[in-house]
Amino acid sequence: AKSASQHSYRFFEPQMNLALRRFVETRDALRVGLEQAEFELYYQPQIDLLSGRVVGAEALLRWRRDGQRLVPPDDFIQVAEESGLIASIGRWVLQEACRQAAIWHASGWPHLSVAVNLSAAQFRQADIEQDVAAALDASGLDPRCLELELTESLFMQEVESISEMLMGWKARGIQLAIDDFGTGYSSLAYLKRFQVNRLKIDRSFIADILHDEQDRAIVQGVIQIARGLGLQTLSEGVETSRQAAQLRRMGCDMAQGYLYAKPLSAPQFASWLRHRAG
Ligand code: C2E
Ligand code: CA
Ligand code: CA
Ligand code: CA
Repeated sequence: AKSASQHSYRFFEPQMNLALRRFVETRDALRVGLEQAEFELYYQPQIDLLSGRVVGAEALLRWRRDGQRLVPPDDFIQVAEESGLIASIGRWVLQEACRQAAIWHASGWPHLSVAVNLSAAQFRQADIEQDVAAALDASGLDPRCLELELTESLFMQEVESISEMLMGWKARGIQLAIDDFGTGYSSLAYLKRFQVNRLKIDRSFIADILHDEQDRAIVQGVIQIARGLGLQTLSEGVETSRQAAQLRRMGCDMAQGYLYAKPLSAPQFASWLRHRAG
């Protein structure tokens, strides 16, 4: 066993170095990116399934690396988390999202909310309470129009430390949503303990909802639990009008997905809103 492990150590070493080199490269480029303001937020509309109205948008981070190609978050968020840079990047996201929502409010869309993704790492590495308060203050945005998207893992890992913070946010009127609901460790006990406003049903349950009985049963179950607890539901990754119709029949409140729009730059989102209204 010993010689085997020595062998595998030698075998993996070059790959380890490669992974480490990639990490360091991305981390350093992210630092530059922060200094050079290479980050952008894209906005994906969220639709009320009953009225068909746009109620808000989720802010999704993009990185225009070296001023050129647009890098999606899955390619760099983990490095940002592991390097500690997520604290600064997340602070920028909160500031920018609130600033943008205040602009919508001032330009004829007074009720739109903006949803911001928070990763569990931000709760460890940043003073997230202060960052949220600062972004609201700087923008003057009504706290009721800010939604924070939390992950299930957060509730499992750091229950003690965040409970007061979440209650404080709720008291200010800030909306709380659980992202990717159903994909994490599903102890449902935390739903009772932390009164969030909304469950976002992960798109993996939506993709096949017309044909897969099990997905349909899970989604129906989530909607029923949410209703029983007085929470709203939003389905992610809605790509067809048949999926939207099915979800509406099942009692889902809201939807988000390519059916309505892909994530759009701020100017694109503004013109999308105007077209939809006109
Ligand atoms: P998420 O929060 O689950 O965001 C939804 C993802 O699904 C987005 O990918 C979006 O572009 C994609 N999507 C939306 N509608 C559809 C659809 O109809 N079909 C399909 N196939 N996909 C759809 P994106 O923008 O690449 O973001 C990936 C993940 O990165 C997000 O997943 C979120 O976890 C993370 N992320 C994005 N922005 C931030 C941020 O500012 N902070 C943190 N901490 N994480 C972020
Ligand atoms: Ca999200
Ligand atoms: Ca999600
Ligand atoms: Ca997801």
